[in-house]
Parts: sequence; C-alpha cells; structure tokens
Amino acid sequence: MGLILPRFEKAHGKTEAEICRRIIHAIFEQRLPPGERLTEELLAETFDVSRTIVRQAMARLSQDGILVKMPNVGSTVASPSRKETRDILTVRRMVEPEIVRTLAASITASGLAQLHEHLEAEAEARKNDARGTLVRLVGEFHLRLAELTGNHVLVQLITRLQTLTCLAILLHAQEYEACPPGEHIRITDAIARRDGETAAHEMVRHLNHVEMDLKLDGEDKASNFSETMAWLRGA
Ligand SMILES: [Zn+2]
Repeated sequence: MGLILPRFEKAHGKTEAEICRRIIHAIFEQRLPPGERLTEELLAETFDVSRTIVRQAMARLSQDGILVKMPNVGSTVASPSRKETRDILTVRRMVEPEIVRTLAASITASGLAQLHEHLEAEAEARKNDARGTLVRLVGEFHLRLAELTGNHVLVQLITRLQTLTCLAILLHAQEYEACPPGEHIRITDAIARRDGETAAHEMVRHLNHVEMDLKLDGEDKASNFSETMAWLRGA
C-alpha cells in the first residue's frame, strides 16, 4: 500500500509502515469510523510495539490527514467535511482519468490479469453479501490502478485520497452501495482494449456517481469539537 516507504524499523512486533497499513486497511473495511479516538498507549499495546514506533506511525498518518491530533486527547480518525470531500473528489477527477489513460497505453498482460483477478474478488464479495470486504475491495481497485503505473508518488496520493473518501462515505452517504457494479468492469475493459479516451471518460463518469451517492450538496454543520473549544476560549 501507498504509505509503505522502503524503510524498516522493526521493533518487538510490527514496523511503522505495517501499522499504517493495518490502520488504513481497517478504515477501508469500515472497522475504524471517523472520529474514533486512538492513543499511543492503545496502539502500542495492540501492535506490541514501543510507543516510539507508534508515535512515528501516527505522525505519518497525521501528515496525510488520516489522523487528526487533538491536544490532550491523542488523535482521532479524520472526519472529512462535505467541503473537504468535494475537494477530494475534484482532485480524484483530475488524477484518476490520467491514471487509466496511462495504463491503456502501458499495461502489461500480467497487470491486466491482476485487474481481472481483483474484479473477480469484487464479484465474489457482492455475491456473498460480504459488505465489509466489498467496500474494501472497491476502494482497493482504485489503488491497484495507481500501483500498476509503477509511480510511487501516485500510489501515496491515491491511498490518501481513497482513505479519506472511505471515511466520507461513512459520514455523508445516505445509502452506500459501494462503487456501482459494472463500472469498474467498463473501465478495465477500456484499458484492455487500449482505449485510453474511453477509460478516462468512464473514470470521470464513475467518480461523478461516487460523488452523487455521497449527498454533498448541503452545508457543513457550523462547528466541530476544536472549533467549539476555540470559541469557548474566545478565540
Ligand atoms: Zn470505484
């Protein structure tokens, strides 16, 4: 996954990168909801590592906007507002059509096989009504595409944007069905035909559907906890 950097600081249990990956995985599966409080102590115990390693992992996730530091409270899982979510989807619409356009020109047979394998896993999860797995897999489809470009910066960016989108879905979607069935297949088919224009067009259409599902038209509620504290201090 994107947040893994080629650096390993093995402690008693897991590395910093593995902790980041596990936390992102939990968010993708909707096991870690927006606003959930995470402390160094709790994570150190959970992963059987030193607090130093946990602190490094939490710092990295905070840098990516996935965790939000709260003074004297620890950190909480991000709760992207409607405005933030609209901004995230705007960036995704700028970047992801270019990813599939690039892949249509460059994907290898083994890359295509990986995508088809992924689509089969999605279909299986849909058939078995395995909602957590399905939500994770549809998110990971977008990461797979980024990974297949071989561009590490792109993988990091999409990991971050997709993780925040997963959190926004829990906050703002009325009835979330995961990415509409069939759309990932149409994108993959266009890549397989080497038709970059259609692949890019299908991706824009797909991201528009994701945004429509999210009901982002309304205004954000006026305050959150830190804003309320600032208000109480008279800031
Ligand atoms: Zn999708």
